[in-house]
Amino acid sequence: MTDHKFGMVALLGPPNAGKSTLMNRFLGQKVAIVSPRPQTTRNRISGILSTDTEQIVFLDTPGIHRLRGRMNRFLLDSAWNALAGCDVVIIMLDAALYASKPHLFEKELSPLIKPVADTGRPVLVVLNKADRIKDKPTLLPVLQKASETWPEAEIFPVSALKGQGTDALLQAIVDRIPQGPPMYPDDQVSTVPLRFMAAETIREKLFYSLQQELPYGTAVEIELWEEDEKAGRVNIGAVIYTSKKNHKGMIIGKQGANLKEVGTRARKELNEMLGMKVHLELWVKVRSGWTEDPGFLRAMGLGE
Ligand code: GDP
Ligand code: MG
Repeated sequence: MTDHKFGMVALLGPPNAGKSTLMNRFLGQKVAIVSPRPQTTRNRISGILSTDTEQIVFLDTPGIHRLRGRMNRFLLDSAWNALAGCDVVIIMLDAALYASKPHLFEKELSPLIKPVADTGRPVLVVLNKADRIKDKPTLLPVLQKASETWPEAEIFPVSALKGQGTDALLQAIVDRIPQGPPMYPDDQVSTVPLRFMAAETIREKLFYSLQQELPYGTAVEIELWEEDEKAGRVNIGAVIYTSKKNHKGMIIGKQGANLKEVGTRARKELNEMLGMKVHLELWVKVRSGWTEDPGFLRAMGLGE
């Protein structure tokens, strides 16, 4: 085992930057997706890459935004804890977005500057979605801005979707993690963690569909999980809780359009994640005040 490496990588970046896509690409088929065991809820273990020579745990941290309230404090803590315990920080951003809308760079990424610097960990900045930039010189201002913002960081233009530049990025990660034995069995998959991952996936798609209008008043609980291993299929039923009545309509959308889109996106991702056909049903329920209800938060895996 002396040549074996083990490391934790915190994956930071605004929603839609391509974090899940990158993780899926890295994890490939030899994957164990686990979510937190009880004692590790504050560090969200999202994916483990195991090869013969290294094991890398990717911590997909919750988005970092202007936050209020009990749950939001928890989410922030959880993000910072992931940072504190990691060996490498990856800042992932949608370079195509900032190439066309430079003003968003500051807005979306400035909250990351100080906490990342405070960790003192090596930083890799990933300029994702390079495949979408047809006019390559428009990438230069983004590159420039990224190197001004994180002067110590190495910068990688990649396409997580197409797999361009991702090998070099993975090598850079491996170069920066310490020697150490694997901490997890390489086949660790269990239903309970997968449920958590499924709920997170749905929540993310919801967040994305609403253009970040209602981030943290929303929670997702998996109520039904029926696996038919022979058929390679899983039936998942999930309830989306929202703290405000008027948000219910927004979530559902005109004639159910938004909910349908969320369902489609989530199902697609869950399909890939689970390697099974997914039948997904979503309901929306109003539960006022839940973001300040410690018992409910605990039940949702969002508190201690
Ligand atoms: P996350 O919110 O950061 O986890 O982002 P996702 O991985 O869910 O990706 C958000 C969207 O961007 C999805 O529609 C992805 O297919 C798309 N996406 C991610 N990476 C790339 C990329 O390299 N190129 C392109 N064109 N799209 C990408
Ligand atoms: Mg994601």
